[in-house]
Amino acid sequence: MNAPVPLASAHNRFARVVLSKPSITDLELRYVGDAAANAWGESCYQWINRFEAAFARYVGVKYAVATSSGTGALHLGLMALGLKPGDEVILADTNWIATVAPITYVGAKPVFVDIDPDTWCLDVAQVRQSIGPRTRAVIATHLYGNACDMDALRSLCSDTGLALIEDAAEALGTTWHGQMVGSMGAFGIFSFHGSKTITTGEGGMWVSDDAGLYAAVRQINNHGRAIGDGRQFWPERIGLKYRMSDLQAAMGCAQLERIDFILEKKRAVLARYREALAGIDSVRLNPEPHWVRHGAWMPNVVFDARLDLTHAQMFDAFREANIDARPFFWPLTHLGLFGTEARFDTWAWKIQQHSVNLPSFVDMREDEMDRVIDVIYSLTEQGGA
Ligand SMILES: *Cc1c(COP(=O)(O)O)cnc(C)c1O
Repeated sequence: MNAPVPLASAHNRFARVVLSKPSITDLELRYVGDAAANAWGESCYQWINRFEAAFARYVGVKYAVATSSGTGALHLGLMALGLKPGDEVILADTNWIATVAPITYVGAKPVFVDIDPDTWCLDVAQVRQSIGPRTRAVIATHLYGNACDMDALRSLCSDTGLALIEDAAEALGTTWHGQMVGSMGAFGIFSFHGSKTITTGEGGMWVSDDAGLYAAVRQINNHGRAIGDGRQFWPERIGLKYRMSDLQAAMGCAQLERIDFILEKKRAVLARYREALAGIDSVRLNPEPHWVRHGAWMPNVVFDARLDLTHAQMFDAFREANIDARPFFWPLTHLGLFGTEARFDTWAWKIQQHSVNLPSFVDMREDEMDRVIDVIYSLTEQGGA
């Protein structure tokens, strides 16, 4: 077809449907403008302090430390735990690289377990089997806003003396029996990358109820200088400097004030997909048992293996409809970065092969959602089942 690519006007039915984009209003612009004009000198840190306090209150923890990224928040927490070379940390094979990379930064060894097909998060029975004399911590990633089995993980980690770490970068607003994910372990981390539920451009948050870990994270993130140390410029150890700026924190304050609205819209997108696909046996969306309230960060469709759809078939169909759809995370053991052998008999691989990340953003219109649903319908009809 030689027709010119149509321009993206608001109601052009061929306009590109992006995977995600943040919701930015006058409130964000006002706060960031205020920070840019005023948050210097005596007033520096005022937005950071406000963002940390508001975030801690929202998640239901005592302490929060704003950081330059979610990756940085995880690195800080692992250093504060005192992890060192030779220590082992258990995590799910299905994960973004940001979850495993900080384990290697402190010289520890990642130990991968398969995911549970009911949660797409780490399989707790396999976590139990992987615990050895060098195991120090478990990182539970609440993948795509789904919740890990926190009851089983908490009792396993407390019985075995392991630190339970929650990677809630994708799960702001997800609750487990009414409790916010990220608030239930030794510490939790969140991300405010532009693709996440709320954004500060780049940014993250470290949260905990543990006063000792909090003091350690504050000191490490201050280039090793103890908070309140009267000697100026006197680091006691080599630390890190992964701090958030006031400009970013001002944006975070505005986003957090709007979190209920943002979550309502995100959940409405997932709900519309769910309703439209409820009658089709050969597709599944993110699991959401009745004890979980889903943060709906990223809807993901899993096609039944019997449809025998290839990645090419799935992604071509979305591309032809001018919809940005992306693959499910590859198993980390397949990357060749960790001295692991790629296995093909795992859920981490099988689900990856049959899944697609679906668009979801606050301003998404119903006709855009319906275009996504139409592609899923057409793929189930193409399949060989
Ligand atoms: C986004 C993300 C992070 C960290 O994100 P940054 O890009 O460093 O802010 C960590 N873990 C998971 C699972 C993520 O999706």
